[in-house]
Amino acid sequence: MASNPSLVMRILSASVAVSNRASNIIRNVLTKGDLGIVEKGKNDLQTEADRSAQRCIVASLHKQFPNVAIFGEEQLDPQETIPKDFIELNFDEEVLKHTCPEYLKDTKDEDVVIWVDPLDGTAEFTQGFLDHVTVLIGISVKGNAVAGVVHQPWFNFEKPGLPLGRCIWGVIGLGAFGFERETPPSNKVIVTTSRSHSDRMVTEAVEACNPDEVVRVGGAGHKVLLLIEGKVHAYVFASKGCKKWDTCAPEAILHAVGGTLTDFHGIRMNYSADVQRKNTGGVLATVADHGKFLGCIPEHIRDAMDKSSPAPELDFKGIVVCGGADLEKAKQNNGQVSAAKNPSPEENAESKSSSDKVPNDVNTKL
Ligand code: AMP
Ligand code: MG
Ligand code: MG
Repeated sequence: MASNPSLVMRILSASVAVSNRASNIIRNVLTKGDLGIVEKGKNDLQTEADRSAQRCIVASLHKQFPNVAIFGEEQLDPQETIPKDFIELNFDEEVLKHTCPEYLKDTKDEDVVIWVDPLDGTAEFTQGFLDHVTVLIGISVKGNAVAGVVHQPWFNFEKPGLPLGRCIWGVIGLGAFGFERETPPSNKVIVTTSRSHSDRMVTEAVEACNPDEVVRVGGAGHKVLLLIEGKVHAYVFASKGCKKWDTCAPEAILHAVGGTLTDFHGIRMNYSADVQRKNTGGVLATVADHGKFLGCIPEHIRDAMDKSSPAPELDFKGIVVCGGADLEKAKQNNGQVSAAKNPSPEENAESKSSSDKVPNDVNTKL
């Protein structure tokens, strides 16, 4: 174990452990068979699995980190008694073996907001598309998505004999773990988007990217897994329907491996406690060529999407990751954001290991 682990690594380690517990709870709801479906709004469902998983995650993390702000997707009665076996107080030892990146070492309780989507892909869950379901726990520091957990309870569910479920976690500046990184094919363009929240604009934005294939699946978490595993090149969602709990964990993990998640104006989202929950600027996520995909989006679609409140500048002490590639730069360069790296002078001498994680198509020092 790293000696005296930092607050961020302790939260992340606890989040991995609690996501394992939540994942069991979710699978048990399905096994029992009564999903307890409630309609929260138009095309917006909640099930007993969403509710129980949130009770488990929020109560457990709150017990361990009582002074850290935690926002969960579901509105639940705060007076509710949480079953004892929903509380997970263990830490994942594997996470604690890693050293916290320097820029996060001094993080304090008040700098952190945890964004919890207890079950991402609820519509698909109710329809039996079980591998689309993920549990998302995103950790933001001073408004920036920096670390997260994406847990897939039914990974391998169609492959009996293989272990069921997996947990992917990552930190910007450290990397991401729990999956095999692959690069997408270079001879075609594959775009993923929503399966159950599509409309004309969503489809038009996808088509503007000239894809050879379109993969319509559920869940923001699942779609970002497709990106980091090299199954698709871009996740394009020209809609205001995604929320901060949908994007915080996936964004951190994607950025940890050199990808990029922004709104349709190329702005990295702000995850501070006081921001609006909806990502009204849309969601565009890529493993590479972010500027090229941004440049494909027609003006009228971009205009229909709000400009997000940008993530505040965080001193990443020379760690360069992508994100924040802005559209003006993309336009000036035919839609291609050029490589540029801004290490601090002392970082110049020793930036080799962090630069391994730097994409070669998007600039930006966070
Ligand atoms: P999808 O790709 O459709 O699974 O959407 C990703 C996430 O955003 C899921 O958590 C959805 O519930 C949420 N979402 C997207 N669009 C909407 C919408 N129009 N109404 C409610 N939730 C939405
Ligand atoms: Mg969700
Ligand atoms: Mg959800």
